[in-house]
Formats: sequence, C-alpha cells, structure tokens
Amino acid sequence: MMVDEERALRAHQERFGPHEQVFTAPARVNLIGEHTDYTGGLVMPMAIEFLTTAVLSSRQDGRAVFYSENYGEEVSIDLDSLERTPRGHWSDYPVGVVWVLKQQGVSLSGFSMTLWGDVPLGAGLSSSASVQVATALALLKHAGMMLPLEQLANVCRRAENEYVGAKTGIMDQFVVAGGVAHRAMLLDCRSMQFELLPLPEDVRVVICNSMVKHQLANGEYGDRRDEVEAGQAVLQRERPQIKLLRDATLADLDACADKMTAASLARCRHIVTENARVLEAREALLQSDMVRFGKLMVAAHASFRDDFGASCDEVDSLVEIALQQPGCYGSRITGGGFGGCTVNLVRADMTEEFVGHLRSRYLAATGIAADCFVCAPSDGALALMAAKDGLK
Ligand code: ADP
Ligand code: MG
Repeated sequence: MMVDEERALRAHQERFGPHEQVFTAPARVNLIGEHTDYTGGLVMPMAIEFLTTAVLSSRQDGRAVFYSENYGEEVSIDLDSLERTPRGHWSDYPVGVVWVLKQQGVSLSGFSMTLWGDVPLGAGLSSSASVQVATALALLKHAGMMLPLEQLANVCRRAENEYVGAKTGIMDQFVVAGGVAHRAMLLDCRSMQFELLPLPEDVRVVICNSMVKHQLANGEYGDRRDEVEAGQAVLQRERPQIKLLRDATLADLDACADKMTAASLARCRHIVTENARVLEAREALLQSDMVRFGKLMVAAHASFRDDFGASCDEVDSLVEIALQQPGCYGSRITGGGFGGCTVNLVRADMTEEFVGHLRSRYLAATGIAADCFVCAPSDGALALMAAKDGLK
C-alpha cells in the first residue's frame, strides 16, 4: 500500500511541488448479485486491496489540473467555466466529480491533483469508482467539508452516470467508499441499508481475468439495462404495488410474461432469482457454510449466462475449469459481462495450486494467459482514511 502512495506523492512533488492532501480508495469485486443494483436489488461486493491514490495541492489561478501517472498525461480546466463536456477521456472521471460537487453547491478553489492506481483498468474491478472516490475525498477536504457514506457514493455515481455517461448502479461507489476489512457487504440498493458479513478466514477470493473484453460489451450492457427496464415498466403498469423490479416475485413475472418480450422476461428472471440467491448467500455466510455459498455462485453464473445472456465462451471455460479444481467452492463471472473477470471462492491453503492449474488449463483451452489475483476483503476509502487519522 505504501509503495503506491509513494509513487503518487513523488509524481506530485516533481510536477506540482509539496502536497496538502492524500487519499486512497480500493477496488472492488462482487461476490454475488449481478446487475441487480439499478433495480433496487441486493448485491454482495467487497473492497479489495488495489488502490488508487489522489494527491492534491492548492493553486492560485482558479484552475483544476489533473495529472494521471497511469496515463502520463495532464488535463487543465478552468473551474469557473466548467460545463458538462465529457471528452471520452480518463479525465472525465475526476472532472465529473468536480462537476457534480459544483452542481451540489460545493465551492472549489483551484487545485492540482495527481492520480495513480494499481487497479487493473477496465477489467471489471471498478478502477472507475476507485479513482472517483479518491478524487471526491480529496476535493471535499480541499473544500473543508466531508459527506456521509451514502452521499459520497451518490456524488461519484452521479459523476459516472451524468458526466462520464456510463449507466452504472450505486454498488461500486458504495463499497469502494464503505467496505470494511474481513467483511463482505450485503447492500440493499432500495433502502441503502447494508450489513457487514464475515467471510471465513480460511477462504480466499481469487479473481481471474479472462483477458477478453468483447467488442459488444458497452453497447450490450446498455441493451441489457434497456431490456430490464422495459420488463420492469410492464410490471409497474400491471401491478401498482411494484415500484421496482426488486418488489416483484417470480409469480408476478409469470403473470406478466406475455406482455413483455422474451428477452425482457429472461433478463428480469435473472434479477428476481439473483436477489433470492443473495439472501441465501447471506444465510450461508452467517453459518460459515462455504459449500452452500459456492453452489449459489454456480447457480448465479448459470443464470447470468442463460437468462441474462451476458457471458462468453472464454469466461464459461474459466468457470468450468475452476469448478474442477480441488478446494474451489464456487466460481462465476463478475462485473458487467461479455468478458472480464471471474470470482472464485477457494480454500486458503489451496489457492496456489488452484491458480497454477487454472492458468495452465485455461492457456491450453484458449491460448490466453489469465491474470489471477488472490484477495481478501479489505478496507474501503472511509476506513482507510480513519486508519490514517489514527481513528481506527
Ligand atoms: P473498470 O471500472 O472496470 O476498471 P471502467 O471502464 O468503468 O472500467 O473505468 C476505467 C476507466 O477509469 C479508465 O479507462 C480511466 O478512464 C479511468 N481511470 C481509472 N483509474 C484511473 C487512473 N489512475 N488515472 C486516470 N484514469 C483512471
Ligand atoms: Mg467501472
């Protein structure tokens, strides 16, 4: 962790001089509950120890200057004339946070910010939420204020939805800000209440990057959301007590089946069954029953593949190979879909063997060398901040 921070601090010092603030935010992985957050559903992510660091110092010319050490690039904007003008560039993520804070009446004077992270970019581990939460904390401190968890997450979600233009739910930003070491987070995206659940110390979460990202990913992610929202609209119309898909049962869905497209029906069925699986996964964790948890992950993958229609051959083969390895409780795709990473629950004493076999058999099957990361639930940005302030 220190190494990451040092690189960001050094880069900032060289370019902008002494720093005033430094904040870090982790990445995240979702154990179960995929594509449920934007319909008020249940998710179970955890923060993982990849970090993005934001280093800030004041400047007197009224400008916001962002330098990303990852990209080796600097972007400068005039704070007074900032408008919603995303450029399809990395700077949209931090500039979007500035834009939302200004929308919310936070007054920001000029600053220079250096960003550096070791989160794999675009791999489904939410480097985007990581960079936004670190940025938001540094900017809030610069403005002499702080926000509670839910509002902080919402600022970052708005930046991603309204400025960057990515239709994501609240899960990523919430767990990146609010995660706690040794705990998975069950988040109810309707009430925004959450529970921190213990993950047994003798299991590890192994993330495997299939290294493929199918071209359709961005467009199809939007299509899936549209299909889900169309199905949700039918349910809302036919059953007034249903405000969000989260409120619907399988019986509600069946009753409305002939009023929606086959695609909407299948996508909604994935989400309704997934919400039930998350609740069951909660029970499994409370009983330290990893076998049951693993079976739920396998069922979640099948539902994502068959009903949600958003897996791909490479990821399916990564899951299949994982499930054949000793010590593996469960495996499933995680993230938006059409490639990206799988999340695997593995006995801690067998992770090394697991990773070795998985990589060699995936290489033999596809010709691709997968990146694998062995993770445990780690602190979110707020807990990291408290630890640094000596409050924890
Ligand atoms: P994911 O969140 O899965 O990593 P996204 O496409 O949502 O993928 O977000 C990745 C984008 O976030 C990057 O392409 C880049 O624009 C931005 N980003 C993440 N980390 C950094 C960083 N350290 N510096 C600059 N931009 C970053
Ligand atoms: Mg993202």
